[in-house]
Amino acid sequence: MEAFDAVHAADEPQPLKGLCTIVMPEAHLKAFAFQHAVELNSANHPLALEQTSDGPPDPQALSAAMETFRRWPNGMRLRVHFMEGDPRVHRRVEEIALEWCKYANVEFIFGAGPDAEIRIAFNPRWGSWSYMGTDCSLPQLAGRPTMNLGWLTPTTPEVEYRRVVLHEFGHALGLVHEHLSPVAEIPWDEKKVIAYYKRTNGWNEDYIRANVLARSKADAFTRFDPFSIMLYPVPKELTIGGFEIPWSNSELSALDREFIGRMYPFANGASFG
Ligand SMILES: [Zn+2]
Repeated sequence: MEAFDAVHAADEPQPLKGLCTIVMPEAHLKAFAFQHAVELNSANHPLALEQTSDGPPDPQALSAAMETFRRWPNGMRLRVHFMEGDPRVHRRVEEIALEWCKYANVEFIFGAGPDAEIRIAFNPRWGSWSYMGTDCSLPQLAGRPTMNLGWLTPTTPEVEYRRVVLHEFGHALGLVHEHLSPVAEIPWDEKKVIAYYKRTNGWNEDYIRANVLARSKADAFTRFDPFSIMLYPVPKELTIGGFEIPWSNSELSALDREFIGRMYPFANGASFG
């Protein structure tokens, strides 16, 4: 499982509970992963990125952010396979994940076999993470999990289920973290951020910069949404001037729903929420 062992090696400190990491294909798979994304969806082209990322963001636009070069074909039936775990947990994951399908023109087909596009493990040592969008169906990852839901047990509170499941399935649809949005304006205190994540998660500086401080090259995004399900918490101890976003998003925000509907539109322009 070398694709994510680099990040989630067994001897690493356990990730801070509640924080998720996006897992990217290994460096040598990047070119292939891009080709794979274009083959699945011809709209996943870097020209689109160059054309749309220059202009100022539309202030009327919706919130959330997506690297559309990992977008599934619109209307795709995404099969989901549980590689292990408790059937009670599976049922709750399924029920919650399907909420995305009210707003996005994709289907999640649960109970699929091991060749499903989305393959879920429940390893408690790995925390929560997911590959993004079309990366999940890279043939090089066949047989491996594309998502881990390490904190969920039959007794986990519903609010935690919703926070984690909606968030990780957002990644599986191709969404990036909201705090990495090209228009996120979080006055991070960089030194404190780096010291904090080194201490709590054992991450190195490059990894912290990429996962917390960077701005995504997402080519589709909206104004910054502090209510997005895709947002990390922002403690005021890590910002300048007391800026803070409380740790409480456990539902799809209004803008999450609108944005995913724009990324995966229904034919009639309507959603079924
Ligand atoms: Zn995440």
